[in-house]
Amino acid sequence: MFDTLARGFRQARNRLAGLTELSESNIEPALREVRLSLLEADVEIGVVKAFLSRVKQKAVGRTLEAKVKHEGETMQVSASDHFVKICHDELEAMMSHEGEPIVWASGRPTGLMMVGLQGSGKTTTCAKLARHIAKQGKKPMLVAADMQRPAAVEQLKVLGNQIKIPVFNISGKSPVEICAAAEAEAKKLGRDVIIYDTAGRLAIDEKLMQELAEIKSRVAPENIFLVVDAMIGQDSVKTARSFHERLGISGVVLTKLDGDARGGAAISIKEVTGAPVLFSGVGETTDKFEEFRADGMASRILG
Ligand code: GDP
Repeated sequence: MFDTLARGFRQARNRLAGLTELSESNIEPALREVRLSLLEADVEIGVVKAFLSRVKQKAVGRTLEAKVKHEGETMQVSASDHFVKICHDELEAMMSHEGEPIVWASGRPTGLMMVGLQGSGKTTTCAKLARHIAKQGKKPMLVAADMQRPAAVEQLKVLGNQIKIPVFNISGKSPVEICAAAEAEAKKLGRDVIIYDTAGRLAIDEKLMQELAEIKSRVAPENIFLVVDAMIGQDSVKTARSFHERLGISGVVLTKLDGDARGGAAISIKEVTGAPVLFSGVGETTDKFEEFRADGMASRILG
């Protein structure tokens, strides 16, 4: 997935080959290569600028520090190694998050409200997350409250059946009513986590946001996760920004990272919205789900 970026960073390293020290001027060709590849990979322009400026500032300042540190040692630290290390640390900082990805409730079942546009992979992700949580010894229950896409309720029931997780739905009721009734049902069934699959739309609209805001206020979930398709490039950042402004999301699940997305979303989302990517979807089946690790992503991006 990160081919474009990896190529850019490789070229940047080549530009620094043979140099022992980084300076304001000799770092420029390397930064240019990185800039081009970040833009080509759909990283948001403001994020590109901020990243390059931080790398430049650290790279030029830190050469001296590193020289002192390694003086007398046989190990030679090249300018290109420094550059890679600084880029790695900056990328990691831009994508990392503090603490556990899921906030657990005490004294009531933990609520995870899943939101996102139609086709982002939201319903699939609900099942993936349920499976992931069940593997940690918890007892999730899925709530089918996406009445916008006709097949979504049935799809969630099929997936729930596959992974042996109960799916709650009341026919003839509104999404808000279904979600509001879910906690009592979870308690009755002895389930300690509730995952709400809410309605999506093809585009963000006021009606969608109102419904989601109402569900949020009725169930007061500990977590609101936005599901975003990594393949939609820069639009994923715009989507994340809108949902965050309106609902205050706790984090993002970035789906379809197994496809040929160029990776810009992974780098930009937290920097632009303040909400970190917490999980990633890496395939269609319910086991293709991972915790998002900034360190590993940074290494993959650097190639
Ligand atoms: P929803 O409309 O947001 O509920 O989307 P769905 O859960 O129905 O998913 C839309 C399509 O994306 C389906 O064909 C899923 O199998 C597919 N999908 C979901 N997550 C992933 C993923 O991580 N990787 C790939 N390759 N496909 C995915």
